[in-house]
Parts: sequence; structure tokens; C-alpha cells
Amino acid sequence: MNIKKIRGEIIKVIDLSKTAKEIEIKLSEPIDFLPGSFINLFIDVNGEIMRRAYSISSSSSNRDTLTLTVRLSLTGVMTQFLWSTNLIGKEVDLMGPLGLNTVDKMKHDKIYLFAFGIGVGVVKSISDYFINIKKVKSLTIYTGSRQEDEIIYKEYFDKLSQDFDNVVVKYIVSSPLEGSNISKGYIQDHVDNLDFNNSDVYVCGQEKACSDLVNKINSLNPKDCNFYIEGFH
Ligand SMILES: Cc1cc2nc3c(=O)[nH]c(=O)nc-3n(C[C@H](O)[C@H](O)[C@H](O)COP(=O)(O)OP(=O)(O)OC[C@H]3O[C@@H](n4cnc5c(N)ncnc54)[C@H](O)[C@@H]3O)c2cc1C
Repeated sequence: MNIKKIRGEIIKVIDLSKTAKEIEIKLSEPIDFLPGSFINLFIDVNGEIMRRAYSISSSSSNRDTLTLTVRLSLTGVMTQFLWSTNLIGKEVDLMGPLGLNTVDKMKHDKIYLFAFGIGVGVVKSISDYFINIKKVKSLTIYTGSRQEDEIIYKEYFDKLSQDFDNVVVKYIVSSPLEGSNISKGYIQDHVDNLDFNNSDVYVCGQEKACSDLVNKINSLNPKDCNFYIEGFH
């Protein structure tokens, strides 16, 4: 993929939860990207140009706009700005697509996509790609969140599991509401019964969560299991 530096304009912002936003950016020229890619976003924050990396959460079939799914970091400079400013019409610069953990590397017909927190955004883009690949026999998607109201894109994933026989979706919450019947704990508490032999495993989210899950899967001694890990700080 050609790495480009292009202009963009923020045209839509959706509050996904108390701490997550989807930001849609209209591009000055179309770009091609492989799901799993990220871009560097440059924004003028009070006179200083700030750069941060964000995974692309929109479908690669849309070349004219991109969505980024961003989590508020309570002490973070960029995200504080994104939460406190009217972003509509704001001009930004983008550099990308970047990244190595892209769908072209995943060749097995059994795919696991595991997303912690905001990592669900890029998993949405990757899922959108694999549901259209006939050879994929099984696409298993697990998301891990702290609470029920932090599960983002739930409607999208519910619809995938209803519409496609080869798709399994599970939501796991570490601190569920009392009386909730949702799966409790961390993703790694729910993988013992999965068959990771001959599979591709994509893991996205905070670095510690990603490495704990990968260690757990490795402890099951899978054969021919490839990992694609996108850890955020
Ligand atoms: C490849 C990649 C993809 C990414 N994709 C996404 C994505 O899709 N969505 C998303 O939300 N994020 C993503 N990130 C993270 C994103 O790039 C930013 O790091 C994030 O938005 C926080 O930016 P910020 O400016 O708000 O926080 P920053 O100001 O950069 O701070 C980040 C954290 O570091 C701490 N910190 C800052 N300064 C200090 C200091 N001096 N000492 C100690 N701690 C400090 C802050 O408390 C905060 O918790 C990605 C990162 C990478 C590398």
C-alpha cells in the first residue's frame, strides 16, 4: 500500500460510550488500505501540531472517508482536546496507511479476532473484510470490556452473528452489573475450549492485556497458530 500524506476534514463525531468516540474524516483524495492498518493523525492543538496513531475502524470498501475510534485518556493531551472541542469542520493531516498486522497476512480459514476496549474498532474493519472472503470457514470474535455500557459496536457484531453462520461473537465484561448474565472476566478466561490449531489470531488493545491473552493461548500449545498483535500504550 502506498503511504500518503493527505488532508482531511472531520465531518461526523459519534459518542459510542462515555469514553469512546467515532470520528469520521472526509479525505481530500481516496486512499486504499488493508484492514488492520493505522494512520498517523496530525491536529493543531492550541497552536501545536500533535501526532497520534489510530487504527482505521471503517470498511476498506469506502475509500473517500475513514473512521477512527478513539478512547478518552483522562490525562492524555490529544484525547482531552478531542473531547473538549467542536470537531466538525476541523481540518487535519493524515499519514498512512501504516502497520504490519493487516488482513493480507492472515491465510488460514479459521480466524480469531480478540479486542480489548477500544481495539474493537479495528476488529470491526477486519470483520467486515473477512465476512466477504468465501474461504473463511470460521470467524470468532471476542470483545473484552470493563462494563456492559462500554461494549462498542454491539449492534454491528450482533447483526454479523445473526447474518453469517460462520461467525461467532462473544462479549466478555470484567465488572458486569449485578444480576447480568453476560460472560464475566477477561477474554483469556474464556478461551480454553477454543481450537487454535491451524488458525490466525489477531489481538488488539492495551499491550498488557494483549500479552496476557497471547501467553494463555500459547500455554494451550496450538500447532500452526499465527499471532498478529496490535498493542496500544
Ligand atoms: C499503532 C497504534 C494504533 C493505535 N490505535 C488507537 C485507536 O484505534 N484508538 C485509540 O483510542 N488509541 C489508539 N492508539 C493510541 C493513541 O495513539 C494515543 O496514544 C492515545 O489516543 C492517547 O493519546 P493522548 O494524547 O490523549 O494521550 P498522551 O498525552 O499521549 O498520554 C497517553 C498516556 O500516557 C500518560 N502520560 C502522558 N505523559 C506522561 C508522562 N510524562 N509520564 C507518565 N505518563 C504520561 C497519560 O497519562 C496517558 O495515560 C494507537 C496507538 C498505536 C501505537
